[in-house]
Amino acid sequence: PPPPPPIPGADSERVHVLRTSEDADRLRAALVPGARLLVVGAGLVGAESASTAVRLGCAVTLVDPVAVPLAAAFGPELAEWVHGLHARNGVTARQTVVESFTDRGAAGVEALLADGGPAQTYDAVLLGVGMVPHTALAEQAGLEVARGIVVDAGQVTSNPAILAVGDPARARGADGVLLPRAEHWEAAQQDGARAAASILGTAQPAPTASWFWTDRHDRHVESVGHMASASHTVTRGSFEDPFFSVFGLRDGRVVAAASVDDSTAVRAARRMIDRRMPADAGRLADPSVNLRSLLRG
Ligand SMILES: Cc1cc2nc3c(=O)[nH]c(=O)nc-3n(C[C@H](O)[C@H](O)[C@H](O)COP(=O)(O)OP(=O)(O)OC[C@H]3O[C@@H](n4cnc5c(N)ncnc54)[C@H](O)[C@@H]3O)c2cc1C
Repeated sequence: PPPPPPIPGADSERVHVLRTSEDADRLRAALVPGARLLVVGAGLVGAESASTAVRLGCAVTLVDPVAVPLAAAFGPELAEWVHGLHARNGVTARQTVVESFTDRGAAGVEALLADGGPAQTYDAVLLGVGMVPHTALAEQAGLEVARGIVVDAGQVTSNPAILAVGDPARARGADGVLLPRAEHWEAAQQDGARAAASILGTAQPAPTASWFWTDRHDRHVESVGHMASASHTVTRGSFEDPFFSVFGLRDGRVVAAASVDDSTAVRAARRMIDRRMPADAGRLADPSVNLRSLLRG
């Protein structure tokens, strides 16, 4: 297994990571009602675990140095609303980083945070940070590696006889720029389809906008496309509604969308992005307009 992240004291038995089913079983055993849990990192793994733990009756503190995590994926306003779910559901969210852990045996593990408060003792800590691509084998094989195994659009590495797929693969775009690693379930599946097409010499599947979801505090949040590239956004519904969505637009087209409990909106947005359809912001924002009718143009 990879070494624990370089936080002093992170090798304590009470400090968990969540990479394998054994990790999950071990963490689950620690999440008993009343347990004090510190979650480090408010990304997908940290935020979802914090949500589950508070539901199980734990006293949860969530720390992240970023004020509004996932803003690039959801847009700043929706990301703030999504992050605010933690406080609204009883999680203590603090904007800081952990400096060190000290194992106090049966008393728990003490965590010193960088925001100047006194060290606090926890029964368990989950590190939702520190995921690194496992590239040692690729490096030994002499492949090009740049914080990921570099592949082309057909998943072929710098050695044409070797393909790479899934989390550690990092694609180089048509313009030569390396794309971020996707690290999502569907992206890994699509990598497999592209690799198969390369092996068989058949046409590559049509590219589609990247998509992921996150479930937390009983809300289902989805994101498609690249919200950071939008020049403006329109909200369909309001953040107080049982479900709503935000569309990111640029040059008269939808480039991204994010939704809360509204998968239909994200599915429709994905088709709009993939087909590069012109978009009418006013109609997108109007919940009485059926999105399927917009897809018909
Ligand atoms: C806690 C957690 C929650 C997540 N939640 C979500 C989510 O909600 N939505 C989402 O889209 N994604 C989620 N992800 C990410 C998603 O799991 C990954 O993006 C996806 O599994 C990547 O697929 P993969 O095939 O690259 O790797 P994996 O699914 O990890 O599969 C790799 C397999 O290769 C095996 N293996 C490793 N080394 C060798 C070897 N030398 N020889 C043979 N086999 C080997 C491993 O045992 C493993 O079975 C989550 C990840 C984590 C850790």
